[in-house]
Amino acid sequence: MFCYQCEQTAKGEGCTKIGVCGKQPEVAALQDLVVYAMRGLSQVAVEGRKAGISDPEVNAFTSEAMFSTLTNVDFDPERFPPLLEKIVALREKLKAKVKAAGGKVDFPDGPADLALADSLEGLTAQGEKVGIQADTTTDRDIHALVWTVTFGIKGIAAYADHARILGKEDEAVYAFMHEGLAAALNKDLTLNDWIGLTMKAGEINLKTMEILDAANTETYGHPVPTKVPLGHKKGKAILVSGHDLKDMELILQQTEGKGITIYTHGEMLPLHSYPELKKYGHFYGHYGTAWQNQGKEFAEFPGAIIMTTNCIQKPKESYQANIFTTGLVGWPGVSHMADKNFTPAIERALALPGFAEDTNGKTVTVGFGRNTVMGVAGTVIEAVKSKAIRHFFLVAGCDGAKPGRNYYTEFVEKAPNDTVILTLACGKFRFFDKELGDIGGIPRLLDVGQCNDAYSAVQIAVALAKAFNIEVNELPLSMILSWYEQKAVAILLTLLYLGIKNIRLGPSLPAFVTPNVLDFLVKNFNIMPITTPEEDLKAILG
Ligand code: SF4
Ligand code: SF4
Repeated sequence: MFCYQCEQTAKGEGCTKIGVCGKQPEVAALQDLVVYAMRGLSQVAVEGRKAGISDPEVNAFTSEAMFSTLTNVDFDPERFPPLLEKIVALREKLKAKVKAAGGKVDFPDGPADLALADSLEGLTAQGEKVGIQADTTTDRDIHALVWTVTFGIKGIAAYADHARILGKEDEAVYAFMHEGLAAALNKDLTLNDWIGLTMKAGEINLKTMEILDAANTETYGHPVPTKVPLGHKKGKAILVSGHDLKDMELILQQTEGKGITIYTHGEMLPLHSYPELKKYGHFYGHYGTAWQNQGKEFAEFPGAIIMTTNCIQKPKESYQANIFTTGLVGWPGVSHMADKNFTPAIERALALPGFAEDTNGKTVTVGFGRNTVMGVAGTVIEAVKSKAIRHFFLVAGCDGAKPGRNYYTEFVEKAPNDTVILTLACGKFRFFDKELGDIGGIPRLLDVGQCNDAYSAVQIAVALAKAFNIEVNELPLSMILSWYEQKAVAILLTLLYLGIKNIRLGPSLPAFVTPNVLDFLVKNFNIMPITTPEEDLKAILG
């Protein structure tokens, strides 16, 4: 196997024997085969569009298939053969339609012609031949961009899938996913072509996050500032992790009146701020922190646990019977609730002891999405003009297990009192419960939401720049980002597409970026690695 799609890749180079995330070589090969087969389906889809055909089933499935290969989503080898069979079946069905419309369907000797082996072993062997390192002839910088775009598409697929589940889709998003995946098969494309596709991935991700933002806020209302208890209530409990809002709604509906209290974990925390979710009386508090702490936190949770998407970790034996998956997430041996009937998890929660008593803990405030922040834009602008607010920091992105990620905790702790911290995604769990006070009533720590809400942060920056009649890069705003998986790659590409400069990125730079590509990023965007909180604060604030 060879995988270098995430930040924790082995030795900062690539996982070769087993994934640091727990991905086994068999699953790595099956996921490689999914990506390869999707390139073939994408070739046909690209030709289909030229002939006036865009197939809704193919489009929706593209998001699901690519999302399934994102870090920490699906570790279950048994889930991949049906997925692969569906890719080929949809491809052949689409070929027939495209052919009938006079389009090209002849792509010999490539993934559009791929015939699948009829066993798991056979599919694994096929996957081993088509992974990241299979292509040795392409220029290394182009190869790096092929995979940068591929990983960006995985992130886009995740956002597109969340939006589709809530009824929002965009043809341009699907068209680009197919264009970008098929492009890897076109050996005539130059480095400049690939730079263009990389920027386009950023542009399309912005559009995808925009439709997801619309899907979330039109379905569940705009987030409002909401205090979330970190303690718990006596009684039966279900902990919901992952990212999916619809799953949370269904879980809340199906548990209503059953005497079960619902808690969020990880990236589900911001869901407490959505009016149409917070209205449920048994939706109570937040338990635990970021994904990498699941082993300890899930083992101590006295109820059932539902993973709705990433980032699942290898369940410990002590809670294997308590954890359930739904949607695209999977772990071998963990009960999967494919039909959105959450009865197995509910029954498990009722059988488990639950919390023995009420425990009062701290509270955290969530719900500072674009609507809330723009609602107090006048106060914010005045505070900047009067110099009560000297600087904004967007300290955002993923968490992870590396000790170097303490940088983000220290950065927030050491940021001066006249600065405001905007945050989103699971990296915030390093500092989410810190009491940083306020500046003239504006909290110094503003939780914008999930990684999926990066669009909200972009809109806040754009609106502030507009209010001051300056460019975003001229704002007293610095981006201190942490990345881990491919949604973060997609967001980073969006920021580059928007021309955002001086991003500080950590805890390490992507392994899939070659020195020349990095040089391009530094020269054009002045992107830089984090150093120490003291040095970076000094460099930014002077
Ligand atoms: S997803 Fe990350 S940790 Fe897992 S195999 Fe790939 S590079 Fe390694
Ligand atoms: S922000 Fe990224 S790393 Fe964190 S839980 Fe979400 S998908 Fe996983």
